[in-house]
Amino acid sequence: MHQYMQRVYDEVKARNPHEKLFLQTVEEVFESLEPIVEKNAELYEKYGVLERMCEPDRMIQFRVTWADDNGMPHVNRGFRVQFNSAIGPYKGGLRFASDVTLDTMKFLGFEQTFKNSLTSLPLGGGKGGSDFSPIGKSDAEVMRFCQAFMTELWRHIGPDVDVPAGDIGVGGREIGYLYGQYKRIKAVWENGVLTGKGFSYGGSLIRPEATGYGAVYYLVEVLKHFGETIEGKRIAISGYGNVGWGIMKKAMHLGAKVTYFAGPDGYIHDPDGVTGEKLDFILEMRAKDPMHCKPYADKYGVEFVPGTKCWGVKDVDIIMPAATQNDVNEEWAQKIIDSGVKYYIEVANMPTTNEALAMLRKCEHITVAPSKAVNAGGVATSGFEMSQNSMRYSWTAEEVDERLKVTMKNIYAASVEAAEKAGLGYDLVAGGNIAGFLRVADAMIAQGLV
Ligand code: GLU
Repeated sequence: MHQYMQRVYDEVKARNPHEKLFLQTVEEVFESLEPIVEKNAELYEKYGVLERMCEPDRMIQFRVTWADDNGMPHVNRGFRVQFNSAIGPYKGGLRFASDVTLDTMKFLGFEQTFKNSLTSLPLGGGKGGSDFSPIGKSDAEVMRFCQAFMTELWRHIGPDVDVPAGDIGVGGREIGYLYGQYKRIKAVWENGVLTGKGFSYGGSLIRPEATGYGAVYYLVEVLKHFGETIEGKRIAISGYGNVGWGIMKKAMHLGAKVTYFAGPDGYIHDPDGVTGEKLDFILEMRAKDPMHCKPYADKYGVEFVPGTKCWGVKDVDIIMPAATQNDVNEEWAQKIIDSGVKYYIEVANMPTTNEALAMLRKCEHITVAPSKAVNAGGVATSGFEMSQNSMRYSWTAEEVDERLKVTMKNIYAASVEAAEKAGLGYDLVAGGNIAGFLRVADAMIAQGLV
């Protein structure tokens, strides 16, 4: 590592010794930035660019007290990490999951800054959430929790300040309850304060599908580079939330199919692909019980393999981890390498451990695409939702979808160009990190030491 980067990395490590996820992402990004920092070290050092990028603008933590349906009190922890506002208001989702800690929020906020920059929209980086999980809670409990959460959060956010959205555990229902409470407290119509809203009160068409659609648009560009098309391709994914579901749907539109998908209880193998009415069944199954995908196998008479992941299966062309962080470790990476699959397209935020990522990138028969670029279609469409709210207007589904497609093509092209310019050849991982970094660094330098 260049000595400036090494110094900053050592400081970040000393300052945050227990934050494994945050350190993992900083290390991964720094590794990619090496050639760029080497060239401009003096300038970046003079403006403290790297050390400022690794320290959030501010971190808000609060207690969320709510009562369950039996009147019993519960205390959860709420967070909002406002990471970087060099190029726009803080923007990023809220994650409600029992394993959420400040470390999770910081890793996601750091990644969000680069991802949002890649969209070329005016969006800074932020992330928030709670260690509350909506799984197994009644609708009334989720509503009370969301109201209690927003009663603390509202003073820190706003359409020009910080614009949260969904993430794991936060979908349309939660965003609705959160917006209702924000509006009640502020007594203004500021629907640009949240994205991922329902269409009736200012949500954007295509937002629920956008992350998955965007990932498939990016994949199409990768395939094009190798003279291939998506038609007839078989895809294995993990996760079947909004993101996985969007992948299944767009793959079907474009003549490909998801033949494997994994959930918390095991994986499904459907050789005919998840298409047609099966897509609606996925939604139903998830709404009833998000922890089990076995009912899909029971309903359609296909194979269910309990207690394991589908990485390493041989009869697919593309792998897309779309569940959560560190889904693929070294052991799974080896299985993926041995399977002979050619495309490893990250979709979830940081789905690969750094060690596994290094193995996959080194493997000659595999092309790796990074999640910061591949999943940026979600937040880009959130950016479109903000634009529509500002205009007090809404675009048709076709208009949004077209903008999303163009954005994903541009992200891919910018990543390819950035890697080539840095002398790295065709390296989508480094190219994505570099392209995202350059825009933020430039704005930070222009705005001085703040
Ligand atoms: N949670 C999503 C992400 O990781 C979307 C964020 C947003 O739309 O603001 O990018």
